[in-house]
Amino acid sequence: MTAEVIDGQAYAKILKDEVQLAITQILENGVNCGLATVMVGSDYAALAYERRLRRLAGQLGVDYRHYWLGPEVTLDAVVRVVRQLNTDPAVHGILVLRPLPAHVSEAEVFQALDPCKDIESVHPENAGLLALGTPRFVPSTPASVFHILDGWLDAVGEDRADFYRRSTIVVVGRSNNVGKPTVSLGYARNAVVVSCDEWASRTGRLAEHTRLADVLVVATGVVGLIRGEHVCDGAVVLDVGINPVTDEATGKVHMVGDVDFTTVAAKARAITPVPGGIGPVTDVWLMRNTAAAAAGSLQSASGR
Ligand code: NDP
Repeated sequence: MTAEVIDGQAYAKILKDEVQLAITQILENGVNCGLATVMVGSDYAALAYERRLRRLAGQLGVDYRHYWLGPEVTLDAVVRVVRQLNTDPAVHGILVLRPLPAHVSEAEVFQALDPCKDIESVHPENAGLLALGTPRFVPSTPASVFHILDGWLDAVGEDRADFYRRSTIVVVGRSNNVGKPTVSLGYARNAVVVSCDEWASRTGRLAEHTRLADVLVVATGVVGLIRGEHVCDGAVVLDVGINPVTDEATGKVHMVGDVDFTTVAAKARAITPVPGGIGPVTDVWLMRNTAAAAAGSLQSASGR
């Protein structure tokens, strides 16, 4: 079997048109749609993500602000920036870019966020709501995984509810921002969900689990972790990984996923590429959540 390559750009384009419409309506009601990003240090992938968000915000009419803090900044200073943004009525969504340096506690920064502006659901209240199946905001990367999967099922004429009920979804990687919320969204679709972490690899049991997958979601940051021998024939594989790799000959940096595309595509039914798979939808979904936060503030301002 040679896998169908799922075009994430195409899904992103359709979603972008929908988000554009929502933002236009918000602006017509006299409310801005404000997104603030906070970044500490100069991680390569985070810088690239920030640039993409800035450009997309400009295209969609989102009022975008970026706060860059040097790598020596204290936890208190980061928390102060977040609290200022919490009380700024022109800011509706706040994204704290990862990674933060080791001396700046991610948990404490996330707890400082106003949950109503926490568009990635990293505040414990929002993470809890998501785990309970009643999310305030569905975080952008796990949302994109299922947005693409749902869309692809529609395109191939599979009944979504039936497909998920008879499927095993295996999620490799269990970070708070990607792996765990992906598991919660899989539960919400009544699939059997299996979660694998680094110990599954270290104990030599990773392939035993991943070969069970009808749907395999990989989010580890380990280049080429999943190879042909890890998947069974006909699996649908969603590669979340975005890893910068430097070409030794040219010195140029390009992005690769966590999945070895060639060997996996030879067995899978469908696969998302890197780049051009999950990433483009993630960016637009963040704007969707920003618009939802702005619309929420519009409702509370008008008493509706
Ligand atoms: P984290 O580093 O926060 O988490 C990585 C997870 O992978 C951990 O749960 C870790 O296990 C697990 N893991 C590490 N090595 C292995 C292994 N050998 N076998 C099995 N599991 C392993 O990363 P993120 O979740 O933030 O990101 C993962 C990848 O996704 C990165 O490449 C990142 O750039 C990309 N990404 C892409 C996005 C997109 O929009 N496409 C958005 C966000 C991230 P343990 O818990 O045991 O440590």
